[in-house]
Amino acid sequence: MSPLRVVVLGSTGSVGRQALQVAGRYPDRIQIVGLAAHSSGELLAEQARAWGVDDVVLADQDARCGEMPAACRLTSGLNAVAELATLAEADMVLNALVGAAGLRASHAALASGKRLALANKESLVVGGDLLMPMAKPGQLIPVDSEHSAIFQCLVGEPAGSVARLWLTASGGPFRGWSVEALAGVTLEQALAHPRWTMGPKITIDSATMINKGLEAIEAHHLFDVAYDDIRIVVHPQSCVHSMVEYADGSVKAHLGATDMRVPIQYAFSHPDRWDAPVPPIDFTTLGRLDFEEPDMDTFGCLPLALHVGRTGGTLPAVMNAANEVAVAAFLARRVGFMDIERIVTATVEAHSAEAVESLEHLERVDSEARIFAGRIAGR
Ligand code: MG
Repeated sequence: MSPLRVVVLGSTGSVGRQALQVAGRYPDRIQIVGLAAHSSGELLAEQARAWGVDDVVLADQDARCGEMPAACRLTSGLNAVAELATLAEADMVLNALVGAAGLRASHAALASGKRLALANKESLVVGGDLLMPMAKPGQLIPVDSEHSAIFQCLVGEPAGSVARLWLTASGGPFRGWSVEALAGVTLEQALAHPRWTMGPKITIDSATMINKGLEAIEAHHLFDVAYDDIRIVVHPQSCVHSMVEYADGSVKAHLGATDMRVPIQYAFSHPDRWDAPVPPIDFTTLGRLDFEEPDMDTFGCLPLALHVGRTGGTLPAVMNAANEVAVAAFLARRVGFMDIERIVTATVEAHSAEAVESLEHLERVDSEARIFAGRIAGR
């Protein structure tokens, strides 16, 4: 069997690095043929040398790049990233870029018939209306752990048998906190996620719980399930990665280690399963699994995101752009934790949803929302 030839977009980020670890375990099954990173030029060059990759993109045109292999074709800019997603030698594109910057690459990968392993949830949050009609059955494989879990629960089930999706949420580092207490949280506290090892942007999104709202929108598009039939449940142990409830009341749950390398590997191996070096669950010592309602009053970004998802059109793009600006400002210590919700809410309220026309339309809406949110964030 010839190896799966993979382009990794966002190779120096958390998911990208873990994807290369998975590929390293299966050199006869996975061949890395393209790499793209935002600005970590030294690590990108190191990866290109280690994997013997000929096609490499550094998105940030001003970033410094390390020493590339002699035969390497190095390009830069976001258009070059999208072009890499159409690489003739590739079978699959793993999109692990951060933010709406990943949309153009997802679009390009699907348009050129590549299988798309999607870790960039913003692609679907912003552009689900555009991307889903392009995706043929089996072409789009989710990497987000909850969506990978649901995807795996759906294998072999007849279409139309799903009654409800249950998206599990860890609750983040501030589960049980009050709004008053949240006002004083530090960047370090927000970055200390209790269960998952992830990049800084998604870790902050988990702390505000907007991540679960983004994931509901992602699930709505991926699985064509109405918002009324998507339930969010806080499950602090993060052992159940999500569940599917069927028409006969049966529920399938996906359980496993909290290790992103498992859903990444499943996207590569699907429909097969390969060995993974993760600790097995021992049900005799597991203890209890708790489930509770999310606190929608304290974590206002979550109901906001659900409202935005139901409204649809361009509003999710507006919310996402505002959130990216607000999170970047928080990571730079320019605004406080509760300002994230304030900035996102104000930006959403100032915009009315329009029907999505094209990629260019979405990108225009995205950049206008960024300018608006940036003003509120005090830039
Ligand atoms: Mg997730």
